[in-house]
Amino acid sequence: MIRGGRGIELKGPDDFRAMRRAGLVVERALTRTIAAAAPGTTTQELNDVAAEVIASAGATPSFLNYGASPGQPGFPAVVCISVNEEIVHGIPGNRVLADGDLVSIDCGAIIDGWHGDSARTFFVGDPAPEHAELSRVTQESLWQGIAAVRRGGRVRDIGAAIDDYVSQQDHEYGIVTEFVGHGIGSAMHQVPDVPNYRHAGRSPKIVVGMALAIEPMLTLGNPENVTLDDDWTVVTSDGSAAAHWEHTVAITEHGLWVLTAPDGGEQMLARLGVPFGPLAD
Ligand code: MG
Ligand code: MG
Repeated sequence: MIRGGRGIELKGPDDFRAMRRAGLVVERALTRTIAAAAPGTTTQELNDVAAEVIASAGATPSFLNYGASPGQPGFPAVVCISVNEEIVHGIPGNRVLADGDLVSIDCGAIIDGWHGDSARTFFVGDPAPEHAELSRVTQESLWQGIAAVRRGGRVRDIGAAIDDYVSQQDHEYGIVTEFVGHGIGSAMHQVPDVPNYRHAGRSPKIVVGMALAIEPMLTLGNPENVTLDDDWTVVTSDGSAAAHWEHTVAITEHGLWVLTAPDGGEQMLARLGVPFGPLAD
């Protein structure tokens, strides 16, 4: 690993291979956790499913105790679970999930010091149609952002692509601006920031060896938000529902490798006309 411009960590092939292993653990933890969700399940039970998958893979959860400092407890769980009007950073607990709940789970894992980070939105039972569409648009905006990742392009191209796609919808969704994607590698949160909106000004050039966590958060109503008294859970100010999708994306010399997608992103990248760039073992 080396430091590129602006302190951005550039990964070598073996670093990316380790990040792919971490990414697949995260993928499996999310898939198993979502499969375990049903009306009557608590968010703590879902957290424990993710914890078991991560532990049995010999990996370490990225989120547990995240942000801890002397006198300041860190995040108290293995995953963030955010329900309905909760946008991100919800703390798992005794909340019982009900039919129709919109649930976002955000998960990170570490293998050999390398991180993977991914989030998905899903539904308990049958969703309201406008909630299903909110999640679909958020997921597609993530892929539109991924497709904007080009060698020689700029990080700001990602936010522009997300913003443009969201703006094209019939419904006026809100884009959360206070929380953004990020560089990722030997730490979960690294430079550069990856905003989910169009913005002017300087922005790092995209080069081989970068890894970015891209993670749009959309709201059905106004994107203004507040953090609850638990110091973590972020909710919409107007109580409208929010969705969150995230993948960790590597820029290799061959193209893109979506480290937290089961197929590495092969199918979606083909649909979007973007070179698929996995590294052989
Ligand atoms: Mg995440
Ligand atoms: Mg992230």
